[in-house]
Amino acid sequence: MNTTITPNPLTTWPAIRQYVLAGEAVFTVANPSTGYWVTYKVTRKPGALDAWFVGYLAGPDNEADYTYLGLLADHPRFSPRFRVWHTRATKVVKDTAVWRGAEWLAKHLDEKGNFPPALEFLPSSTCARCGRTLTTPESVLRGFGPECWEAVNGGAA
Ligand SMILES: [Zn+2]
Repeated sequence: MNTTITPNPLTTWPAIRQYVLAGEAVFTVANPSTGYWVTYKVTRKPGALDAWFVGYLAGPDNEADYTYLGLLADHPRFSPRFRVWHTRATKVVKDTAVWRGAEWLAKHLDEKGNFPPALEFLPSSTCARCGRTLTTPESVLRGFGPECWEAVNGGAA
């Protein structure tokens, strides 16, 4: 059994697959060179061993503002093995960065090598001061949300 601490960011596809498919995964994929990032939530479909709901963070409340994006499905006999499907409940058009990001992630999920070093895969973390979920790249790595970071550094918050 692997009992090492989950590193942040995760750098290999097997570790990312383990994280993404665990059942209640919240993570951010960031491109530090462009400053673009998107937060996804992947939750296991109740009762299913091969399907997960995928949402993305579309508002400021990173506990509640997830918009349904599609269904991630495991097709063990196909290549690529994992695919994200547009369903009738999908509220995101395909020609968007959030959709293409989810599609790309799904297609590579079964790979064995390293995640592209130009990108960062950041498991969510919680604020050390208030316990809220952290999803922005800066906050995830720092361990504090912006207000709490200011507060612990002697600011007004
Ligand atoms: Zn906080």
